[in-house]
Amino acid sequence: MKVLVTGGSGFLGQRLKIYKPDWYYLSSRDCDLTNSIATSELFQDVKPSAVLHLAARVGGIKDNVMNQGEYYYQNVMINTNVIHQAYLNGVNRLLAALSTCAYPDNLSHYPFTEEDFLQGPPTYTNFSYGYTKRMLHIQCQAYRRQYGVNYSTFCPTNIYGSGDHFDSLSSHFVAALITKVAKAKDGDTIELWGTGAPLRQQLYVDDLCEIIPLLLEKHNTIEPLIVAPNENLSIAEMSALLKSQVHKNIKIIYNNNLDGQFRKDGSNEKLKELIGNYKFTKFKEGVLKTYNEYEQ
Ligand code: NAP
Repeated sequence: MKVLVTGGSGFLGQRLKIYKPDWYYLSSRDCDLTNSIATSELFQDVKPSAVLHLAARVGGIKDNVMNQGEYYYQNVMINTNVIHQAYLNGVNRLLAALSTCAYPDNLSHYPFTEEDFLQGPPTYTNFSYGYTKRMLHIQCQAYRRQYGVNYSTFCPTNIYGSGDHFDSLSSHFVAALITKVAKAKDGDTIELWGTGAPLRQQLYVDDLCEIIPLLLEKHNTIEPLIVAPNENLSIAEMSALLKSQVHKNIKIIYNNNLDGQFRKDGSNEKLKELIGNYKFTKFKEGVLKTYNEYEQ
């Protein structure tokens, strides 16, 4: 199978290349996927037999809120072009990345499941990004139903690990924590946002790199398959786990500013039905590996 990976130069794409070096990894420099003619030419050149669609405008809360129009236009164009050109060029298999950030903000139960995906608007800070992920899901369903192609979607939770966006204003929590702890000297105090109470599932990037090829092979339904680890730890627990392993005399405090949602965990029951009881990397182990790799 000749697999084209859009978003191949991003955090996830670059890590996946270590696991699947013979897939074809695309960056925006190779092709601007918002451009339908360039996307059409790309598919005619590469002639993939399958597509792993990871490309997206992705960013932190501030970027998402300040640039909602750009997020909408770029992501809708990228998704529309990639899926339509895959179909026009006879690609029967496509697997596209959604995000649990696109889930409804106010659900009455947790963990949420695949059935909950469209049951209410996404949170304000992911409004535009969240809806474009939902449209990506709908487009895959529509092409599957009308054209009989095997286009499916999966929904990872927050991803962390080697190659993440460290030292950036849009860093996610784990990357930001690692950067702060790595830069701290003995006796320093690190301030973290919020109260430390919210619960989060953190998916180790290498686990996802092992799971994606299985999904490409086996995931053949319209469900937005949730890829989430078993652990759902609080921000304070995760910070303490890293601190306890780095042998630095530092203090972590919380500024009690806005926390965001208290929990937003997804169920991995359907994933387990599909790929078996995958042994996810424990956060304690994954965060230390990532920290050590960052320090090197
Ligand atoms: P990332 O590091 O921001 O990478 C984004 C990728 O998309 C890059 O390869 C980028 O190319 C490409 N891209 C952006 N605009 C493009 C355009 N106009 N034309 C062609 N390519 C374009 O993102 P990531 O963290 O690897 O995320 C990969 C996927 O997983 C995304 O769909 C994201 O929504 C999803 N996801 C991520 C997380 C997470 O925690 N990171 C969680 C859930 C879901 P350049 O490098 O050339 O700009």
